[in-house]
Amino acid sequence: RGTPPALSILDVRVEFGGIIALDGATVGVAPDQVMGLIGPNGAGKTTLFNCVSRLYEVQSGSIEVHGTDVLARRPDQVAGLGVARTFQNVGVFPTETVLDNVLVGAYPRTRGGMWATALGLPSIRRSERTERERARALLAELELTAYADEVAGQLPFGSLKRLELARALMMEPRLLMLDEPANGLTHGEVLELAELVRGLRGSHGFAVLLVEHNMDMVASLCDEVTVLELGRTIAVGTPDQVRSDPRVIEAYLGGA
Ligand code: ATP
Repeated sequence: RGTPPALSILDVRVEFGGIIALDGATVGVAPDQVMGLIGPNGAGKTTLFNCVSRLYEVQSGSIEVHGTDVLARRPDQVAGLGVARTFQNVGVFPTETVLDNVLVGAYPRTRGGMWATALGLPSIRRSERTERERARALLAELELTAYADEVAGQLPFGSLKRLELARALMMEPRLLMLDEPANGLTHGEVLELAELVRGLRGSHGFAVLLVEHNMDMVASLCDEVTVLELGRTIAVGTPDQVRSDPRVIEAYLGGA
């Protein structure tokens, strides 16, 4: 058997009270692949991330990360498998410095306390100096060096997005899950961000699952796209293939 997929979500069902959020969702991400996850509002994209992160319980189905069953693990253990994520709403510690915000990715339960736990950060034991060097290198890579000692709350929005990315990369992910990173960015910033993520993949080597409404971002970054509608996978293909798929067009028009 060859290398297992970075992520294998099979037939997952999730219910909140009477609401069926996921109804047989199936998503596969190959190692080194950038997989897009699109679908109309309420399709279940964020819910799926929360299932992989183990923030939500699933009723049935299976989720494996690099061949390891995720559903038997706690959120911090999933992070320990090399899964990092960003959130739809930017979550930084506004009164901490930019550098310290990146270090949160390395020091769970010390700086950031319960937040680090909520973010599902793993326990990594390395010297503080090593971690600071790694954090500074990431800040340089993400063009944030000039802000390193500034308070994060002061950053322009586009830089905050890059800061979140730096924090996620601090965890040395093998699978990076990005929840609408292009949201709120200008067209130019979107293209820059896509370029940046491409470069980071080249230097760090990780698979990506990208939830995104912005089709410029999707088309520029994704090898393939999985389309969810009402909690179900309705199509998988290249960005061009899914864009011209009648079922996908219908799902978006029908939900409008
Ligand atoms: P969007 O593109 O708007 O972010 P989405 O595809 O990410 O949408 P989800 O946020 O995953 O969709 O929501 C899927 C469904 O699950 C929706 O009907 C939503 O109301 C419901 N849902 C999600 N989280 C919860 C929760 N914690 N409790 C109750 N219902 C929830």
